[in-house]
Amino acid sequence: MQIQYKAPRNWLQTLLQTEIAQGMALTLRRMFNRPITRQYPEEKPVVAAGFRGRHALVRDAATGESRCVACMRCARVCPSHCIRIRWSRAADNSRVVDAYNIDALRCIFCGYCAEVCPVNAIVLTEVYAYAANGRSAFKFDKQALLDNWDDFAAQKGDMQGYVNPLCRPRNMPEGALAHAKRVAVDAEWSGAEQWVGKNHRAALAHTQGVEPTPGAPCHGQTNQGGAAK
Ligand code: SF4
Ligand code: SF4
Repeated sequence: MQIQYKAPRNWLQTLLQTEIAQGMALTLRRMFNRPITRQYPEEKPVVAAGFRGRHALVRDAATGESRCVACMRCARVCPSHCIRIRWSRAADNSRVVDAYNIDALRCIFCGYCAEVCPVNAIVLTEVYAYAANGRSAFKFDKQALLDNWDDFAAQKGDMQGYVNPLCRPRNMPEGALAHAKRVAVDAEWSGAEQWVGKNHRAALAHTQGVEPTPGAPCHGQTNQGGAAK
């Protein structure tokens, strides 16, 4: 991914609204290009790293159950309050999840729940096609969320080494991450270059000893992270 800062307009450009002419010129150029039609659903689009699709609870390969430890972080951080969890104590004093519900129709797909989960139990998968006739189909309970994971795993094929980028907050130093989140991520998702705006320029100035001009083009990469094995 490239980040390109737009140079500020001068007064003449503002007066003449040159962007309108630029936009019209682009439209004119595209009119003579060959149309590109994707033959969906036979041809599926490539889903980018960090895509926020249908929710799922990761099924632990060892236990066959959810990894959730009922810490309640996801429910607390969720800005639309669409996660409801009920838990009880087991004989060994550990927490047992009795109910885990997400109302996907209220979700704004911010990905915060996946970011804060210390054990990478909740993820937003790459599944984007899940239309239904009724609203109730989007109220996921624990079993439905585990089934969503199974569906995703079946679509993905080999899940060995699968890493959900949303599980690793961008630019977090490794030492500040929960143990489960300390996974190898590629530069496309984890790079410090992903900082944008003032933060990006400050980071660049710190590493290169120069202050880039706000209008100058800067190049960055997304970083990939989070483990949901
Ligand atoms: S993606 Fe955001 S809004 Fe949706 S359930 Fe997670 S925290 Fe809530
Ligand atoms: S943050 Fe993770 S472990 Fe904690 S309640 Fe939510 S899904 Fe479960």
